[in-house]
Amino acid sequence: MPEAPLLDVRGLRVRFNAQVEAVRGVDLTVERGQTHCVVGESGCGKSVSSLAVMGLLARGAKRSAAHMRFDGQDILGLSDTALQRLRGDRMAMIFQEPMTSLNPAYTIGSQMAEALTRHRKVGKQQALDRAAELLTKVGITAPGLRLAQYPHQLSGGLRQRVMIAMALMCDPELLIADEPTTALDVTVQAQILRLLRDLQAELGLAILLITHDLGVVARIAHKVSVMYAGEVVESASATDLFAAPRHPYTQGLLGCVPIPGKIKRGDPLGSIPGTVPRIADGFTGCGFRDRCAHAMPQCAVSVPQRDDGAGHRHLCHLS
Ligand code: SF4
Repeated sequence: MPEAPLLDVRGLRVRFNAQVEAVRGVDLTVERGQTHCVVGESGCGKSVSSLAVMGLLARGAKRSAAHMRFDGQDILGLSDTALQRLRGDRMAMIFQEPMTSLNPAYTIGSQMAEALTRHRKVGKQQALDRAAELLTKVGITAPGLRLAQYPHQLSGGLRQRVMIAMALMCDPELLIADEPTTALDVTVQAQILRLLRDLQAELGLAILLITHDLGVVARIAHKVSVMYAGEVVESASATDLFAAPRHPYTQGLLGCVPIPGKIKRGDPLGSIPGTVPRIADGFTGCGFRDRCAHAMPQCAVSVPQRDDGAGHRHLCHLS
């Protein structure tokens, strides 16, 4: 029997107020040792979905799901304390801007050590030794010096490496990375993606990576979910999705990025006119219909889920 996925979320919904539903029935699975990328434009619900999984939604937001399992355990009904124990221990998260997680008033060493001592019975020196070991693992030289520095003394690329090292302090099985390379320049971006791939190969990490960048997806994803207006409109293995995208939105997204071998120098890139709509209560049909060149009357009424039986699914009247 195949092993159950490490993270298995079914029918996730997030509502911010009575009128607006930001996430509408999302399914997500992350297999052990693999990377699942969730891709889409700003406002499509991808970051909100990851925050909902971690139990980090803003006050007032409501989440519900048919089920949300981590390593077979239901995490939807966990108390705040139990969820806090899981976070930073078996599930860790890194963000686009490391300064949102790093405290400018404390040294890198004390923050990394605390990430371990909060969850494990270890002394400060043992935690600092682990921190130095992980800084070396993420490619930071002179770890002793870095541990004594404050976040503002590091470059953006170094801070993101520190965040990754800090996330690994308790040896998590799942790393959720929300736009981890967006704020970095292209060279550093490539280094961080290579680092995540290498760490995954070495540690068997499962990664849920949130991005708006299909170039990042092409480099790192095993599986991809394309989100639009709070729904997953297409999901497939990365190979299948790039070879044969089925949903008009995915096709539009792929038309906007230069893909080696598929586009010639000087060819114009496409664009998708319009913006992601806010979905109000009582909305029916396809959320993409105002931007879709293939929209037909039935798209305003319903939208079928199509499944090729081999793991490639999309929400659309077109087959
Ligand atoms: Fe376009 Fe209709 Fe398919 Fe939506 S369901 S993507 S509007 S064809």
